[in-house]
Amino acid sequence: MESSQADYQARFQRNPLTIYEAQHMLIHRINSEAVEVIPLEQAYLRRSAQTIRANMPVPHFQRSMMDGFAVKAADTCHAQQNMAVRLQVVGSIACGDVSKKPLMSGEAVRIMTGAQLPEGADAVIKLEGTSDLQRRTTGQSQDDTILIHQSVSEGENVNAIGSEMEEGQLLIEKGSRLEAGEMALLAMFGYEYIHVYTKPRVAIISTGHELLSISASIEAGKIRNSNSYMLLAQIQEAGGTPYLLPHVADDLHQLTQVLKEALQQYDAVITTGGVSVGDHDILYDFTQNWEGELLFNKVQMRPGSPSTVGFFRGTPLFALSGNPSACFVGCEMFVRPALLRMQGVTEPYRTPLRGKLEQSYYVPDTFVRLVRGVMRTEEDGTVVVRPAGVDKSSATISIMEANCLFVVLPSPTGLEQGTLVDIVPL
Ligand code: AMP
Ligand code: MG
Repeated sequence: MESSQADYQARFQRNPLTIYEAQHMLIHRINSEAVEVIPLEQAYLRRSAQTIRANMPVPHFQRSMMDGFAVKAADTCHAQQNMAVRLQVVGSIACGDVSKKPLMSGEAVRIMTGAQLPEGADAVIKLEGTSDLQRRTTGQSQDDTILIHQSVSEGENVNAIGSEMEEGQLLIEKGSRLEAGEMALLAMFGYEYIHVYTKPRVAIISTGHELLSISASIEAGKIRNSNSYMLLAQIQEAGGTPYLLPHVADDLHQLTQVLKEALQQYDAVITTGGVSVGDHDILYDFTQNWEGELLFNKVQMRPGSPSTVGFFRGTPLFALSGNPSACFVGCEMFVRPALLRMQGVTEPYRTPLRGKLEQSYYVPDTFVRLVRGVMRTEEDGTVVVRPAGVDKSSATISIMEANCLFVVLPSPTGLEQGTLVDIVPL
């Protein structure tokens, strides 16, 4: 009798952490950064496990920015529109070619964009600044001249050595996501292979007697398992590889077997459903009798207050609420930062911005509310936000409509229209 009384109290009177406390506690427990080496062509959207610095200056040679003529700037200093200077054209340099003879005073060399300037040249004059290309044949070779109508200064239209990047310059930090620009830089510096963090393998297990597979015909009182597919997307977005395990009925014995195996096979395990205080909420029961360590099972946030996180021999278990929006928010707040941390990201949280409530939000709460919102920027640059469609934790459609979560701090009344709130873009 006594023990069931204690159990009842523990089940209902959980110690709710703030979101910050819960995230902090979780992130500091993640220490499983695994690294692999992959060809650059497979590295898009992976997280670099290497700090990358420029291994040479860019450009590494004096490079023409224009199609025109490489000259000595001093030769052009008297050139004007009505007082042209004539220079001897002594050759032509295509991209990738290198001129063998140094440029002498009074000479010009035809040069293409991206080609290396000849020794002795220090500026490029674009075609528009020249005219009257005269071609005379002298013996075997062609001897051309041009008229220069404007002066150029030293370095004009030339990318100097190291002008884009200096040798040794820090380019990509550990944990950065490799996007198009990073891919280009890595290729530039000859990284055929790159060290990246391995993608965390994440098992997804939905629980609930009411759940049907997505291929099943709909039945009275039952719903198809939609959370697993939402989580699948969220895990991929966070750089993980999701593994959809079959959903489990509200059966502690079955769940225990599935979870024990999953916690040993994957880098992280997510469950949805069964974390609250209902009669069939078996996740709570599971975390009372396992060999793992429970970090928290209540957070001062809504939706998703029963979000539960524990570790089993270093592997995190995220037991999220079954309510689709609560599940979504729980994944955003806990799973995503943890997966990013496993991939070397030191600051794994989204950066909030400030915006104005477009309409009043009169929902009193003692917990922080993370409301699925639609934000937009007005013409004058002000960011405004409103709740997306149906603001119920059971609502799935608002997850699709939302492009942000906005933060409503605990309040006995809710918030007036125009109040400034923190907005977390998704
Ligand atoms: P629970 O957290 O198990 O109490 O579930 C809360 C609500 O979410 C119930 O209405 C469930 O039917 C619903 N639900 C639970 N799991 C899923 C799921 N995998 N997909 C969609 N809805 C779910
Ligand atoms: Mg349930």
